[in-house]
Amino acid sequence: IQTKLPKVGTTIFSVMSQSALEHKAVNLGQGFPDFEPPEALRDAVARAMAEGRNQYAPGIGLPTLREQIALKTERLYGHKVSADSEVTVTSGGTEALFSAIAAVVRAGEEVIVFDPAYDSYEPAIELQGSRAVHIPLQAPTFAVDWQRVRDAITPKTRMILINSPHNPTGAVLSSADLEELAAIVRDTEIVVLSDEVYEHIVYDGAQHESVLRHPELAARSIVVSSFGKTYHCTGWKVGYAVAPKALSAEFRKVHQYLTFCTFHPAQVAFAEFLASSPEHYLELPAFYQAKRDYFRSLIKPSRFKLLDVPGGYFQLVDYSAISNKDDVSFCEWMVKEGGVAAIPLTPFYEQAPGTHLLRLCFAKSDATMEAAAERLCKL
Ligand code: PMP
Ligand code: GLN
Repeated sequence: IQTKLPKVGTTIFSVMSQSALEHKAVNLGQGFPDFEPPEALRDAVARAMAEGRNQYAPGIGLPTLREQIALKTERLYGHKVSADSEVTVTSGGTEALFSAIAAVVRAGEEVIVFDPAYDSYEPAIELQGSRAVHIPLQAPTFAVDWQRVRDAITPKTRMILINSPHNPTGAVLSSADLEELAAIVRDTEIVVLSDEVYEHIVYDGAQHESVLRHPELAARSIVVSSFGKTYHCTGWKVGYAVAPKALSAEFRKVHQYLTFCTFHPAQVAFAEFLASSPEHYLELPAFYQAKRDYFRSLIKPSRFKLLDVPGGYFQLVDYSAISNKDDVSFCEWMVKEGGVAAIPLTPFYEQAPGTHLLRLCFAKSDATMEAAAERLCKL
């Protein structure tokens, strides 16, 4: 058959997790916590099932959950949204990203993405018959060069896709970055798609600069988040999109025929848990900062060079002192010979810069981090 996605193979996350299993390696590759979601949340899902909340939920999400998301959005970002017309519950951040792109971008149009770019973006763009225009972020800070963005705008530019905190680099956008972005999209038809699935994971007292803090950007943005990241339950696949009414209406047209609705029992549980335990997300920065700092202290004695981690739950390391291999080969070697699975950066680039960087996930128990570090320190 004629493929619609000639460049796409199996995602590096599946490849590395499979390889970790085969070689009995410690898996710091694919990003997922190896600890459990809060007990009250798990109990609430079980209770929702026992109480018969097992049929379709409302397509746009349970009203009680949308209400809690609206309250959280106002509390955190000072942005008032309508739970009825501006919040949509989705089957993970991935579905929200796909629905947003499919709802907005037409064949022949362009979407600006920043490399290294999370790997679900480009296939979603290509399936619309549109094109991803890649702008590289420069190591070691991976800041956006806004002049390059200005230069990349054409009459076909329909969307700019930003991601902060950024996967895989951990970079975060500042309020000055959002000002730059606002100036670029002002008086255009460009929609901003803001992937903020790591919104609660920022460090050293920094505040997450959501586009929802910026009224001018909020008026033209679709913001995506994921309960998988916030509540340590990536396998439940529940996320949401916040967008102004007209954009949400278009978004919902795609969502209702892509999935129609999201796993009902989890929605009941999230609605309860958000209302009863808002401290959970407020404590997340400190929770992950302790993990980040512990992991960094464990691998400091190794030959890996640690890059700064302002946000997210990934540590980038430079392995130049250990090997000259390219990053994919080095990761293949490391999972087999070194007993630790990591993620290379090349798959996230249109044109990989040939840097010797890997991504290690530290959303892990102390025991897992210690086992990995012991092996990494031997390389
Ligand atoms: N965007 C980014 C940057 C991510 O890292 C992820 C999850 N790895 C997603 C979106 C997808 O989120 P979900 O697992 O909720 O589909
Ligand atoms: N978002 C996760 C990561 O960056 C992986 C998600 C997936 O496996 N599709 O590792």
